[in-house]
Amino acid sequence: MNIHEYQGKQILKSFGVNVQEGIVADTPEQAVEAAKQLKIDYNSDWVVIKAQIHAGGRGKGGGVKLAKNLEEVKQRATDIIGMQLVTPQTGPEGKLVSKILVAQDVYYPGASETKEFYISVLLDRAKGRNIIMYSTEGGMDIEEVAEHTPHLIFKEEIDPKVGLQGFQARKVAFNLGVSGNAFKEMVKFVTALYKAYEATDSSMFEINPVLKTSDDKVIAVDAKVNLDENALFRHPDYAAMRDVTEEDPMEVEASASNLNFVNLDGNVGCMVNGAGLAMATMDIIKLAGGEPANFLDVGGTANAQTVKAAFNIILKDPNVKAILINIFGGIVRCDRVAQGVIDAYKEIGNIPVPIICRLQGTNAEEAKKLIDESGLQVYSAIALKEAADLVTKVLAEQA
Ligand code: GDP
Ligand code: MN
Repeated sequence: MNIHEYQGKQILKSFGVNVQEGIVADTPEQAVEAAKQLKIDYNSDWVVIKAQIHAGGRGKGGGVKLAKNLEEVKQRATDIIGMQLVTPQTGPEGKLVSKILVAQDVYYPGASETKEFYISVLLDRAKGRNIIMYSTEGGMDIEEVAEHTPHLIFKEEIDPKVGLQGFQARKVAFNLGVSGNAFKEMVKFVTALYKAYEATDSSMFEINPVLKTSDDKVIAVDAKVNLDENALFRHPDYAAMRDVTEEDPMEVEASASNLNFVNLDGNVGCMVNGAGLAMATMDIIKLAGGEPANFLDVGGTANAQTVKAAFNIILKDPNVKAILINIFGGIVRCDRVAQGVIDAYKEIGNIPVPIICRLQGTNAEEAKKLIDESGLQVYSAIALKEAADLVTKVLAEQA
């Protein structure tokens, strides 16, 4: 689960990671109040206004702006709240900004240079270990660095038996080229960051930039935090940070019905039990000349209720031209699923697209009979090839 920058920073701070201080606001008036609370001395310091959306690249898209006084805070806040922010990560339609973070500008001049670093903690699936990935080339172009100068990105593997060792945190600070107090600060930062990552059951922390300030503090200026959804039951306070307005509405509805659903761009909706079979079904749809409109795993116990919920979600997608139901009756009996399909169909009423229903396994013959005799616009199939041919046929009829 993704959370906003301001929420990520709250979590980091609670684990002793230094962050750029800020206050979240929904309106320009709140932004001005927030800026007053930050007690900025505008003779020397500025305020930064940052759009809160679940996407990076905000700086490039115009979602991060400086303000030199309260007047400008109000102006920038008015500009950013309500804007449709387009960044390299949002897609061309952009994302609506409804919250901003009003933060203290930490790029103030001082005794030494400011410097932006990149530090992330994530699971390296190939190694089966957490790693700390870091680079001296932090800031807005880390993707370019990864592509053109990958040798400038370092990795530190963490042994799960012993956790992050002191020498490893020092190695990170050393490789980042900081010295003196900044070195000590960096070691503290990395240590606290890793502790936070483990304790929160996160799947990724990406801090870009980590800033060394001109007075040698080390702070998180940005925070991209991804929490492992499977562990959220252990963290009700983090679960409450979920912002469903940032997520695909179809996927939100699906997760409320306990369906594993991913929205895709194609024209054939699919309803399958089991993730493996769902993947295979998507392949079959492609083979039949269609494109899957979604990935949907209804789980082990498909009944009329789950089938109905799944229909409702698939039918929300205007691109869907046909629905392929592919259910294997192992634990669940095919005739019960067939009855579920028929009941759901009758309850929803007029389903405007053809349905191809392939039920295989226990009582498959009975299931086919039920569907064939239902008088509904449902094509039944037992073999997978038959189902694929039916998909090709109904798509051709509509072309
Ligand atoms: P992202 O573009 O979505 O990754 O958002 P970031 O939080 O990383 O901000 C983008 C860029 O804005 C950073 O790389 C900084 O260069 C700049 N920025 C962020 N906070 C401040 C600040 O307090 N002062 C100044 N001068 N620049 C900032
Ligand atoms: Mn960033």
